[in-house]
Amino acid sequence: MREIDHALPRVFRPEGVRARNIQVEPLGMINVDSHGNVSSFSPELLGYKNADYGDFLLGNINTASLAEIYRTCVDSPLFRDIAKGIDACRGTCEYFSVCGGGAPVNKLFENGRFDSTSTSFCTLTQMVPTDLILEAFDRFEQNLPDDGLPHDGNAVAQPAAQPAVSPAQPPRMP
Ligand code: SF4
Repeated sequence: MREIDHALPRVFRPEGVRARNIQVEPLGMINVDSHGNVSSFSPELLGYKNADYGDFLLGNINTASLAEIYRTCVDSPLFRDIAKGIDACRGTCEYFSVCGGGAPVNKLFENGRFDSTSTSFCTLTQMVPTDLILEAFDRFEQNLPDDGLPHDGNAVAQPAAQPAVSPAQPPRMP
């Protein structure tokens, strides 16, 4: 249910408005440890170490300004590779408009690299909930009388917005 709740506003969003994913934006999330060390992107990266990216830290709030930390973040191999993963998602995944490229930490832990796409996490939190919502919306539309009124004469509440994702058929799990 939690995944459905989170996915609903991402599916039923205004036309032309993209679903934001702050886990892939430089300093979209600012994660700070008790010593003032700053990381960004997925919060789980703070405190973790990796051979390719070191300690994932981008600066310290005691010695660097936010603007300096932002510049370090944008210029980092960390962001470079996360951005490659987002590009790959954008080019290959029909759920991108809802997901925005997923959780970098799950790409790293599940696939071993940021510049990758699908994970079991995104399947469970993005793909399956989106499929269920669109299937339910299809059933709702198919059962709606032509005049929009139920047989007892009470008005049927119309959905506030059409789903912004618009595949001819709801996307299905591979
Ligand atoms: S659902 Fe998975 S593969 Fe699709 S855009 Fe999101 S992270 Fe990428």
